[in-house]
Amino acid sequence: MSGQIEDLSDGGEIAAIREAVRALCADFPGEYWRECDRARAYPAAFVDALTRAGFLAALIPEAYGGSGLSMRAAAAIMEEIHADGCNGAACHAQMYTMGTLLRHGSEAQKQAYLPAIARGELRLQAFGVTEPTSGTDTLSLRTTAARAGDAYIVNGQKIWTSRAEYSDLMLLLARTTPREHVTRRTDGLSVFLVDMRAAKDKGLTIRPIRTMMNHATTEVFFDNMRVPAANLIGEEGKGFRYILSGMNAERILIAAECIGDAKWFIDRAASYAKERVLFGRPIGQNQGVQFPIARAYAQMRAAELMVQEAARKYEAGADSGAEANMAKLLAADASWAAADMCVQTHGGFGFAEEYDVERKFRETRLYQVAPISTNLILSYLAEHVLGLPRSY
Ligand SMILES: Cc1cc2nc3c(=O)[nH]c(=O)nc-3n(C[C@H](O)[C@H](O)[C@H](O)COP(=O)(O)OP(=O)(O)OC[C@H]3O[C@@H](n4cnc5c(N)ncnc54)[C@H](O)[C@@H]3O)c2cc1C
Repeated sequence: MSGQIEDLSDGGEIAAIREAVRALCADFPGEYWRECDRARAYPAAFVDALTRAGFLAALIPEAYGGSGLSMRAAAAIMEEIHADGCNGAACHAQMYTMGTLLRHGSEAQKQAYLPAIARGELRLQAFGVTEPTSGTDTLSLRTTAARAGDAYIVNGQKIWTSRAEYSDLMLLLARTTPREHVTRRTDGLSVFLVDMRAAKDKGLTIRPIRTMMNHATTEVFFDNMRVPAANLIGEEGKGFRYILSGMNAERILIAAECIGDAKWFIDRAASYAKERVLFGRPIGQNQGVQFPIARAYAQMRAAELMVQEAARKYEAGADSGAEANMAKLLAADASWAAADMCVQTHGGFGFAEEYDVERKFRETRLYQVAPISTNLILSYLAEHVLGLPRSY
């Protein structure tokens, strides 16, 4: 499919990366994903292949053993995975979660973890922020970490902690100072790098949650879990800011996945509309079938431009908050519109498992809600870009 404007300006590096990702994804066709989906099995072989090829270390600098690629290159990797019918949700967090360690961790912490993550010996794929009672209202989270000598004792619960069963490390946000004792509402939260291998059965319990798509998500319980004080990232009490600083990268990469999904749906719909013959002609000859595909294509290309703009600003070190949020909003809308169009184009076969359309439809629906829901993005734009009164 045409598009991919960034490939025109980087001397072909990103085009080569796309080609390599496409070749890797060819080994993981629809049957592979259908089987995983049916069994709600973690796509371990796919994640291992991506890790071996170095794609998950894209954003780790070369000094720490990674590939030191640009945000546009990382976005191209995630987009291509999705455009090829695969699903990066099984591992995408590793790309952006490690950014918190990279930007705010000590040199000793970076040396201890980043090279091993880049080599694929350690997995940092779990990100524990959301809690059942506070949800989107992160500053009301209740998990506590209390200092006791050379450790912190963690108590509480997280929900939707994806990939916790398949990750060695978890980036955890917990309250270290009670809310009523801080002057600024964003203070008092801290970030820890939890070694889940050491903590399992010693205060850490992980319970899988079965969801409408295959996502390996869980709820996690902390009962006097001990985390060495050496695993505190940055300064105590400043964790909320550290997490926020990683969110633009997360939004850009997830938006790229949505663009990939949209491309997959559009490609499938256009192919099917050309092949399916009814009333003596391909259904795609009817404008009632053509136009929704063309509209989905235009919507996807517009969203793709915003993803590129967000990645460009991010790379330039400029504030990319507005663009990263808009990229996520527009790309999630484009992928969802394309998913709906693709089911409609396929008629009854859109519901049949063997076409993969219904699976991708379920998978792409998530991005209206996670990692941030559409309403919260609109609220950010209203308040922080347009200066409208704060609503919460
Ligand atoms: C499959 C899956 C995987 C996930 N993975 C992770 C993960 O790895 N780590 C992690 O920390 N979290 C994860 N999440 C959590 C995800 O980030 C949250 O689900 C999401 O941010 C929404 O929060 P919530 O579910 O608590 O909804 P709530 O905060 O309860 O909100 C419910 C609805 O109300 C709306 N709403 C709430 N407040 C307002 C308001 N003030 N104005 C307008 N509308 C409002 C929301 O937009 C939403 O539609 C995952 C979620 C899912 C479903």
